[in-house]
Amino acid sequence: MTNPPDTLLFVNAAEVATCTGPVRQTDSADPSAVHQCTAVAVRDGLVVGVGAQADVLARYPDAEQIDCAGGTLTPGLVDSHTHAVFGRFRTEEYALRCQGVPYMEIARRGGGINASVRDLRARNEDELVEMALPRLAEMLALGTTTAEVKSGYGLDTESELKTLRAIRRLMEMQPIDLVPTFLGAHEFPPEHRASAEDRARYVDLLVGEMIPAVAASGLARFCDVFMEPGVFDGPQTERILRAGLDHGLRPKLHADELEGSGAAELAVALGAASADHLGAVSEAGIAALASSSTVATLLPATLFFLGRPRWAPGRALIDAGATVALATDFNPGSSPTPNLAFVMTAACSRMGFSPAEALRAATAGGAAALELADGRGTLRPGAPADLVLWRTASAAEIPYRLAAPICAGVWKAGVHVSPGVAPRR
Ligand SMILES: [Zn+2]
Repeated sequence: MTNPPDTLLFVNAAEVATCTGPVRQTDSADPSAVHQCTAVAVRDGLVVGVGAQADVLARYPDAEQIDCAGGTLTPGLVDSHTHAVFGRFRTEEYALRCQGVPYMEIARRGGGINASVRDLRARNEDELVEMALPRLAEMLALGTTTAEVKSGYGLDTESELKTLRAIRRLMEMQPIDLVPTFLGAHEFPPEHRASAEDRARYVDLLVGEMIPAVAASGLARFCDVFMEPGVFDGPQTERILRAGLDHGLRPKLHADELEGSGAAELAVALGAASADHLGAVSEAGIAALASSSTVATLLPATLFFLGRPRWAPGRALIDAGATVALATDFNPGSSPTPNLAFVMTAACSRMGFSPAEALRAATAGGAAALELADGRGTLRPGAPADLVLWRTASAAEIPYRLAAPICAGVWKAGVHVSPGVAPRR
């Protein structure tokens, strides 16, 4: 990375989407807050001006200019739910899935999340870092400048801490800002799965040893639980998240992904930052989210990849008044994509989002789900100068172009970081 010049002006964009509008699109309200004939001024890593291009040019006559050449300028994307640190991809399972082999049968043959747990436990921290770097580079090249990353393939104290240490090192090695989440309650580990007593002992371990150790390490901001019938039940989830809160870890929840189990309501009751997935959220869950500040985070790439017939009720959540975010769920089992623009397409085509609502959900919505209150996910004075230039004539064209390579350039804190900039090692 080079040193940033004093002031940078982004000029000649067909559209600038500041993403400062409300969640829901109406005749008078645009969630993406699109402006024409508008320039953006950047200085010392922050946005310092957004306004009519002639005015901005007059205010900064000596600034270096970036010619957007009729493209679209947006905030950097905020991917608020990923599992980007893992061992190897599980490509062989995909071929089986495509032949119709059920997940339980794949798991019985040694695949599924168990395979990722065995794999991660056998690797050292350096390997995890080296394997994650190219994935983060892919995310950056697709416009993501802030991403949450969860642990959760270790499922014992040392393997979870190893994962969180790898995430901490990755923060210093590449441009994406990473927000770390402890997901020791991703699944019951093989050694704690045989009986109800075994499972109870794992919850004891999470509460009595793992959460205190993670909190003492300072390596995680959030504590997350996979609450779903057959995985962690309501009382276990509440106990784990309350233990996290007692240790200063803010709650998040994998909620109502495949079956409704009251997880969205529990997330709201605990004041969670977000309830994620929501493929089977109930009417009561939608109402609870709508009346709270807990963000409803939707992960449609997962439902697409798993071939699920039912999509999360995105339209109903927005219409009810919930704050929504879109994220990739990037992981080796159910969503091996780093492409948040594709997720926006899925939200529009299958969940009733407008393109403007989808762009806001992938920027300002993601920042809300991560409780980042520094203006991230928007282009407004004082916000971090995280910008993406898209090779499109409008913001609405970003989801329309369905996974096309339309990301022309990415700037992080005012510094050009993609394409063509190698990560530091
Ligand atoms: Zn997840």
